[in-house]
Amino acid sequence: MNDGQEQVDLFVIGAGSGGVRAARMSAGYGASVAIAEEYRIGGTCVIRGCVPKKFLVYASAYGQGFNEARGYGWSADNIRFDWSSLIAAKDVEIDRLSGIYRRNLGNAGVQMLEERAEITGPDTVRLVQSGRVFKCGKILIATGGTPRLLGFEGEEHTITSNEAFHLAKMPDHIVINGGGYIACEFASIFAGLGARVCLIYRRDLVLRGFDDDVRTHIHNELIRQGVRVITHANIETVKKTENGLCVALDTGVNIDCDQVMMAIGRVPATEGLGLETAGVNTDAAGAIMVDEFGQTNVPGIFAVGDVTDRIALTPVAIREGAAFADSEFGDRRHAFDHKDVASAVFTQPPVGSVGLSEHEAREKYGEVDIYKSSFRPMRHTISGSQEQYLMKLVVRTEDQVVVGVHIVSDAAPEIIQVAAIAVKAGLTKAEWDETCAVHPTAAEELVLMREKFIPPVLEDGEAV
Ligand code: NDP
Repeated sequence: MNDGQEQVDLFVIGAGSGGVRAARMSAGYGASVAIAEEYRIGGTCVIRGCVPKKFLVYASAYGQGFNEARGYGWSADNIRFDWSSLIAAKDVEIDRLSGIYRRNLGNAGVQMLEERAEITGPDTVRLVQSGRVFKCGKILIATGGTPRLLGFEGEEHTITSNEAFHLAKMPDHIVINGGGYIACEFASIFAGLGARVCLIYRRDLVLRGFDDDVRTHIHNELIRQGVRVITHANIETVKKTENGLCVALDTGVNIDCDQVMMAIGRVPATEGLGLETAGVNTDAAGAIMVDEFGQTNVPGIFAVGDVTDRIALTPVAIREGAAFADSEFGDRRHAFDHKDVASAVFTQPPVGSVGLSEHEAREKYGEVDIYKSSFRPMRHTISGSQEQYLMKLVVRTEDQVVVGVHIVSDAAPEIIQVAAIAVKAGLTKAEWDETCAVHPTAAEELVLMREKFIPPVLEDGEAV
């Protein structure tokens, strides 16, 4: 105790993926650590992000699975889906996982403070509810992000992914705004569960930032799944009607529905955190600016995870948190390498992607060789589904190193995890090809593609 202040070596704000990893590891190195969380221990990923989303993805895939099984001789009558049972089962598992996070923190000797914390100076943190003040050797900000909102008339009638996990009833007809990870995943989930889904996107092709072939593929797969995709449109107002909601688009189109979900990105959760008081610099988007070690401009204050808006993915936050703990309290100063981080989009079929898109590779290296294959997988020759898969390799011409892998297939997220090892290791196309295929699989395409893709040429000589 010091002037009524409690003292810790490290105060972590936010008990999500990055914060918990940093807290546990720092405590393991012998530091006295406190962690504050204003919502639930586990953070977005565990409580209302990746984990519950994946349960919804599994649930929605069964719908398609039942249909496909008919092609294989199965029949089942009266198939019904009960949203409340799914949500209840999901909640039990989320409670269990949050409990594990809590137990692990406790076992590591981390002091858990379940209330909002704000920074009151370069080395002080105050708990808002209890008023307890901590003098901190170091402060780590790991508060994550919150859904972006636009402020249009009637936006209060909409939901975000936060609420989507707790709806009392499955929507009959949902309008989803956005074309990124969350919008595409939830469009697929609700369509798979049997809802009518309308996706509103402001540009032409969903999943901007991904390889263009992946974008086109998923765009088409969403439509094939029954999603009505409206491009070049924005929501102007959402009004309550007798039967639900009416969405007015800036194109003049009105859509009646019973749920509207905003999935137009996430913003760093820094509001009211006391960053100005402590003098911590943020960028135009409100993200905390850090160097490769997570160090802000204020000595002693660090940040990891989505609040820094580098790569907003759970495993990245975990690695950043671990690197922070190793560097500041352990015996190994190192930074997490953000290059070649693989990611997956859990649409149906899902996407797995690592390294550069064809467009990025052309911009960076000039000449690239493209190997790609789009096909109806063996499974669907009998299932009757028209679902298509995509396998694509982006190869740097000069040294034949595979610099990008882009997959759309039922197992894409699993395959890309392994492909990422080869990309990170800088293996050449010839080394990929030396690897013997596993047959019959969809992934064997990755080691069997021998023909370079030559874009069709128009009569005036320009490549399409
Ligand atoms: P994304 O950044 O993926 O997508 C945001 C979407 O909203 C884009 O289509 C963007 O359009 C659109 N948008 C942005 N601003 C506006 C606006 N003012 N008006 C209309 N549309 C707008 O964000 P998400 O919310 O989907 O997800 C947030 C992050 O969380 C992701 O980037 C990802 O890092 C992470 N995440 C990862 C998942 C996974 O690993 N599977 C799953 C879910 C989230 P435009 O393309 O024109 O910019």
